[in-house]
Amino acid sequence: METQRVIVVGGGAAGVFAAIACAEAAPDMEVTVLEKGPRLLSKVRISGGGRCNVTHHCFDPRDFAARFPRGGRELIGPFQRFQARDTVQWFESRGVKLKTEGDGRMFPVTDSSETVIDCLLQAAQSAGVRLVTSCGVEGVEKPGDGSFGLRTSHHEELVCDQLLLATGGCRTPVLGQLAVSLGHTLEPPVPSLFTFHIETPWLRELSGVSVEAEASVAGAGLRERGPLLVTHWGLSGPVVLRLSAWGARALSELNYRFALRINWLPHLKAGALGTELDRRRRSEAARLVVNAPVPPITARLWEALVKAAGIAHETRWADLSRSAQHRLIQQLTQTEFPVTGKSLNKEEFVTCGGVRLKEIDFRTMQSRICRGLYFAGELLDIDGITGGFNFQAAWTTGWIAGRSMAGQTVRD
Ligand SMILES: Cc1cc2nc3c(=O)[nH]c(=O)nc-3n(C[C@H](O)[C@H](O)[C@H](O)COP(=O)(O)OP(=O)(O)OC[C@H]3O[C@@H](n4cnc5c(N)ncnc54)[C@H](O)[C@@H]3O)c2cc1C
Repeated sequence: METQRVIVVGGGAAGVFAAIACAEAAPDMEVTVLEKGPRLLSKVRISGGGRCNVTHHCFDPRDFAARFPRGGRELIGPFQRFQARDTVQWFESRGVKLKTEGDGRMFPVTDSSETVIDCLLQAAQSAGVRLVTSCGVEGVEKPGDGSFGLRTSHHEELVCDQLLLATGGCRTPVLGQLAVSLGHTLEPPVPSLFTFHIETPWLRELSGVSVEAEASVAGAGLRERGPLLVTHWGLSGPVVLRLSAWGARALSELNYRFALRINWLPHLKAGALGTELDRRRRSEAARLVVNAPVPPITARLWEALVKAAGIAHETRWADLSRSAQHRLIQQLTQTEFPVTGKSLNKEEFVTCGGVRLKEIDFRTMQSRICRGLYFAGELLDIDGITGGFNFQAAWTTGWIAGRSMAGQTVRD
């Protein structure tokens, strides 16, 4: 029998993981990874600030899938076959121990992405995967005999029996052209996981302040609660990143210009804040309003909010008028900031959009349109919130695609 040839286009997390899964399951197959850049796994290297947030400590497939604004429903089945627990075991069995941080993110105990890269490259080498760098695939065709013909940037013509496209997020549609040329449709790409530009001077002066808050975008149905970070260009932190992920398309349609509402005291029930301020008017009458923050608001933030509510610095609780108290409550629970644009989040960003999910069989990651063609990773219209979810989607879809190409039945 002739040797079966598998080509994986894209040497990122999904492509390399798929190649290893395929070659380990079918040692007789010839598995090649073609990477257009000079190095493999370049995003793994820079990920998580150089520490690589490999996955998230959440071992329930449905819970895990709920962190994906796009692709969550389709990923439930795949996570039942290869999930975060399998990733932990996969790396541990190859000598890479992972640790969990307080917020659930999992990193190698070395705190270095190089450990993850070394492990993957070592596993690929042991499984006999051919790794070719600086070799971009520029065109693909399917002549009709079941094989695929690839044209590379080296002006080589390569032939394979099964093809996996794992070329990563298509920030511009041209990056999804290989899939399109084989009959697939791209959902238009827009960025996800970005931070908000806000020009309000008093907010920017608070740069560095971090609080637990609730942020919402009226009209877009977006609301998130958690850590919020003031930066010198606006707002960032997990709350903003989650809003940007769930609202990636809606916020792009608004051209990243919208009103953002912040509740700085989300743990207080409606009415409780008024009661607390009334109590201060009675029992702390002589104290300056500006000097008495409601916990957990920090002194700096409180002072700015009091000022933004139009309350003079020297106002004592006893002198706080009803209307000024009302303005203060408004400011504390629904400060409205005009967002005027977005910035890249340097820690992690992904593309919303990509190959349409209906066109893929998620039991195998094979195309429903073109036999022998497989997909994995961010090229698909799949993206998760920040925290290790995006790499897990790459490991999971890569593993399933690799095993399927190897001819292994993947359990439902
Ligand atoms: C700065 C940053 C930090 C991140 N940190 C984290 C994190 O800590 N945790 C997390 O879960 N996610 C993180 N992410 C997201 C995560 O990196 C991606 O979701 C993940 O890398 C997707 O894997 P992939 O293999 O699908 O794509 P990629 O990693 O993008 O790999 C695709 C590869 O294909 C190659 N390629 C493209 N076209 C061709 C072609 N025509 N021919 C040959 N090769 C081609 C590309 O050069 C690239 O190397 C981060 C993203 C960024 C940008």
